[in-house]
Amino acid sequence: MTILALETYNIHIGTIHESHIEWLRDKNYAGIAILMDENTAQHCWPKIEDLFAPFSPTLIKIQAGEINKTLESCQYIWQQLFDIQAGRRWCLINLGGGVIGDMGGFCASTFKRGIDFIQIPTTILSQVDASVGGKLGIDFYGVKNSIGVFQNPIAVWADPQFFETLPTREIRSGFAEILKHALIADAEQWEELLLISELNKIDWTSWVARSVSIKRSIVEEDPHEHGLRKALNFGHTIGHAVESYFLDTEKHLLHGEAIAIGMICEAWISVQQLGLREEELQEITSLLLWHYGHQFIPAGAYDELIATMKQDKKNTDARIAFSLLPAIGEVEPMETAEELVIMAALDFYNRLGH
Ligand code: NAD
Repeated sequence: MTILALETYNIHIGTIHESHIEWLRDKNYAGIAILMDENTAQHCWPKIEDLFAPFSPTLIKIQAGEINKTLESCQYIWQQLFDIQAGRRWCLINLGGGVIGDMGGFCASTFKRGIDFIQIPTTILSQVDASVGGKLGIDFYGVKNSIGVFQNPIAVWADPQFFETLPTREIRSGFAEILKHALIADAEQWEELLLISELNKIDWTSWVARSVSIKRSIVEEDPHEHGLRKALNFGHTIGHAVESYFLDTEKHLLHGEAIAIGMICEAWISVQQLGLREEELQEITSLLLWHYGHQFIPAGAYDELIATMKQDKKNTDARIAFSLLPAIGEVEPMETAEELVIMAALDFYNRLGH
């Protein structure tokens, strides 16, 4: 078990067991409710159900997927909490991936002006990324994460045993954030990651702990995303646009799969603008193509991609904002790039598929 201490709460990484439950018992909550989606109800809840039996928790179940990260789902969750007469001394436990964590945390933070909540993230992405930083919310009016708050849980219990039932694509997708954390902040970690060829043989407890440590140190320096925290967006300016573009097609990409494309393109821009070495670009490209394969991006899509990038809330003026790498393990969070350079980066990526 690794325990990472943050300012107001701890992240426990390892198997959930009796000591977690004792800690919760000492909190003396008036009641416990557990939010889960259909998949985590089936695969994750049975792994911890017996431990929670003494609390006789109320289970709140919703449908899985980003499509349900909505105000309607929040209404349902709030109504369930009302129906069981939950009060300020209740605790909501969010058992699931980033959708459950973001939405459950948001519902808890706003229910009767805020009740305590614990995150039990069950995907790699939610353990290494969503477990730090206090960002909570839902999608609204077609815009992702547009309604929400910053609020920390009272604890995060990240247990890698949940990954046993994660589909392979979800595992690869979450792994992209581990790669990103190393690329922006830890060249040594990157060297070790280069040696991983198969994701089913990984010691996830150690990798989750090391990766979360990177995010923790960045978020602690800049909790409200004024500067350094933008570093975490490496690969995301182009990656998000690519993710949105393929959303309505048959080639729907998971978040990390799109970010992998974004990281290749943005590493190429880093070579042009910040002097990232060609050999480093080569290393990044080969590892990402090995794990994620190649997805051709039609040249006819470039204008739409650029238009999406222009709407990014991280842009401070008309220019498109990027976090780029001067070297592996280092990051410049306040860069911009011209449209022609972005298109050339997409061309570079496309040529890798030939
Ligand atoms: P998700 O919650 O939709 O989970 C992915 C899929 O895996 C779902 O179908 C889910 O039911 C299933 N699942 C979850 N755990 C499982 C398990 N152990 N076994 C089998 N199936 C399982 O998505 P995600 O990838 O975890 O997270 C994406 C969301 O996280 C997005 O909404 C994104 O905005 C958000 N996010 C938030 C932050 C933050 O800082 N708050 C950071 C990154 C991402």
